[in-house]
Order: sequence, then C-alpha cells, then structure tokens
Amino acid sequence: MNSTAPGKNDTFKFLPSVDELLRSETGRRLTSEGGAQRLTALARTVIDELRDVLKDRKGNELSKASVLMEAETRIAGIWAAELGSGLRRVINATGVIIHTNLGRAPLSDGAREALASVAGYCNIEYDLETGRRGTRGARVESMLRELTGAGDAIVVNNCAAAAFLVLSVFAAGREVVISRGELVEIGGDFRVPDVLSRSGAVLKEVGTTNRTRIADYEKAISETTAMILKVHPSNYRIVGFTAMPSINELAELAHRKDIILYEDAGSGVVSNLTSIGLGDEPVIKDTIAAGADIVTFSGDKLLGGPQSGIIVGRAELIETIRKDPLYRALRVDKLVYAALEATLDAHLRGAAFVEIPVLRMLSLSADDIADRSHQFAAAVTKPELNIEVIRGNSAVGGGSAPMVQPDTMLIALEHTSLSADQLESKLRKSDPPVISRIVDGRVVIDLRTVSKDEESDLTRILSAI
Ligand SMILES: *Cc1c(COP(=O)(O)O)cnc(C)c1O
Repeated sequence: MNSTAPGKNDTFKFLPSVDELLRSETGRRLTSEGGAQRLTALARTVIDELRDVLKDRKGNELSKASVLMEAETRIAGIWAAELGSGLRRVINATGVIIHTNLGRAPLSDGAREALASVAGYCNIEYDLETGRRGTRGARVESMLRELTGAGDAIVVNNCAAAAFLVLSVFAAGREVVISRGELVEIGGDFRVPDVLSRSGAVLKEVGTTNRTRIADYEKAISETTAMILKVHPSNYRIVGFTAMPSINELAELAHRKDIILYEDAGSGVVSNLTSIGLGDEPVIKDTIAAGADIVTFSGDKLLGGPQSGIIVGRAELIETIRKDPLYRALRVDKLVYAALEATLDAHLRGAAFVEIPVLRMLSLSADDIADRSHQFAAAVTKPELNIEVIRGNSAVGGGSAPMVQPDTMLIALEHTSLSADQLESKLRKSDPPVISRIVDGRVVIDLRTVSKDEESDLTRILSAI
C-alpha cells in the first residue's frame, strides 16, 4: 500500500496552517505566555504530527473544526509538559531528608532571606569600609575557620569539585595512597578512582577491603607520594572483621614522611550529632584537631546549606589552592555565599537544631510525628480515602548515614477506586507536586520531611482527589 494513493491525502485539506493554529483561542493564549517564536516552532511540530495521524483517517469522519480542536489540545499538552519540566517547588513526603533528586538540604528561613537580599547588587568583592575591592567569601571563610578550627577555608561548587581541586593542585603526576576499602562510588556518580585519575594523580591502593593497617600505608609511601587520602565511606559500611588506622596515626605517619593527609569527609558534620543517632559521622573539627592537613565536605548534606564544596585545612595549603587557576573555574556565586553564610551563622549561634531544616527534621521523634500525623489525618475529610497512621522508618539520604533509619509514623492512604500507583501518580501531578512512597501496596506520607507550612497544601490536595 502506498500512503500517497489518491483518496488518502484528501484528509490533509483539514489540516490547519501554522498561522491558523496560532490564531486559535489556545494559540493566542499560549503565544502571550511563551512568545511567538517558540509557539510557532511548537505549532509546526503539532501540524507535522497531525499530518502523520490524518493519513490513516477517513475524510468523512473529519472537519476543519475538529482537526483544529485536536491541534489546540496537542499544542496545549506540549506546552504544559514543557513548563512542567522546569524547576518547581515540590512537597517531599518521602521521609528521605537529604533527597538528592529533590534538591538535597532544604534551606533555613535565614538562608532563603539572605539569597533574596543579595540577588541584586551586593558587596561580594567590595569593601564597604574602604570603598575598594574586597575579598570574595571573606566572611564565610572566617566562619568556617571558627567552626572547624582549621587555619583557613575556601568554597567551591560541590564536594566533587573540592576533591578534584585538592588532588589536582597537590597530587597531579604523583602518587596518592588510599585504602582498598575506600575506593568507592558515593551517590550521584562520584567515583573516587575516577576523580583521582582525572586529576592526574596516580592511585596507590593499600590493604584489603575490610582491613588496612598503618604498616600497609607506610610500606606504600615513596619519593613520588604526594598524600594519603582518606575517604569517609558515606553511603555504605563495612561491618564485622574490620580495621582502619585512626586519623591520629595517619597524621603522624604523613608528617613523618613530609606528605599531606587529606580526608574527604563528605557529609559535613560540624557539631556532634550523637544525640540524633549520627555519632558515626566524622566531626570536621575533630578531624582537623587529630592532624588532617586538608578536609573537604559538602555544603548541602548534614551541614544543611546550599550546594557547595568546602575545603578547610592548613593556611598555606589553602593559600596555594586560592592562587590556582582551577579554583577560579570552580568558585561559587553570591547566592551560594549568602545562603552558606546564613547557614553557618545558625551553627555558630548554637541554633542549628532549631533553624536548619535537615537537623530539625532529624531530631523529630516518632511521637512528635505521630501527633502531627493524627491531627493531619483528622483534617482530611474524604470518604473515598481510607487513612491510617502506621509505624515506619525515615531515611537520612544523600549518601549519609545508611545505617540510621529514624523511627517515624506514616500516613497510609487507600483510595476506594484508585490503585496505589494511580494515587501516587495523582499526588505527583498535583500543584504543587507531592512526592510520596508506596509501602506494602499503600501510598504513604511521612510528615518528617513536610514542613508545617506545607500541611495546608497537602490537606487541600488530598481532599481534592
Ligand atoms: C557526597 C560525597 C561526595 C560528593 O559531594 P557533592 O557535594 O555531591 O559533590 C564526595 N565525597 C564524599 C565522601 C561524599 O560523601
């Protein structure tokens, strides 16, 4: 069969022109939203699609008006999908606190205000005292020195950039000694061996996956060794028959051999989190005090701030980094400094557990969440929705503390006519989108990661389903 056979192509006469589609009611509305150039391109796409569809239809089923209506529906659909793929606020009802797909750490109120206030002009590199050029990030760096006890600090785009920068500056063309147990992949495509080799450093593996001794490190150090690298195993744990030298032992060895001890700590804990079950996470101040020369960590994991990579360590090493052209390529902008400054300020004031959402959410007990969940369940009046409050677990997420799964209470939802998958999808497509989980065939909502301000949105959305 030939699609250009006479009779078939007659249906093309019902196709609207690009201009006709743009002049339709939908066309005019979308053009005013998105601009003529983009909507013209979309109109062409839609008409091409319809040409394909029409070649298989019969002329007597069609009219100019019905085809135009179909074109309007299609262009509105494409435009809505395009808008929906942009960045939007979502409600995280998953109970995963540092959810990398949902933007990791939600910022504190102080950080949000700080972002907005410097969005126009600000004194990022201007000294208001002297009226001369100022130093970028000076305040954040001094706060980081205070929080960690390090000689100096510097901030780059993320922890992967921080590790890449440290290795490039100090270890390119030289050897980096690392335990086999730490050659890991940590969330979001960060693979220690790949970052190492891309920086030009040469990997020197020592020990075994579960046990590495100080003597293993010592034997591996030679003339060409630049540093010992210690990587915090953020998202996994080796348990059982294990051994790893302490930071103190590694520092003693590194300094005796005149090389650098660098720890990639990852999650960025600046005060002891034993009270919330995170006693396993290295506290940056302790690592520095134990003799590490350089420590790197993320700004948007347990620190609770914006995406950034923080490097702290001996002042002369940080100064070498500051002068390297690669630092210029990896530096952060005023928005990051503003949000980070506000976050660090909350830590320094001792207000972190009150003001920083990540730590506040982590410190909620299952009882706190149970009270909120029962109140919430009572507020949703929807006969088609069967609501039950059940026990469950939240997660830290973001490749931090995999063994810690705080007890929580979950709001389990069952709909009389929708399946769990359908209900999950409806929540995800609401405004704002609600991201939930399915546990044992039921959609569940964990209020641990839902702020009080978001509860009214959530009640409205559930009542409207
Ligand atoms: C998370 C993590 C990284 C990557 O940090 P980003 O800020 O996501 O680039 C690197 N190293 C460790 C140990 C981590 O935990």
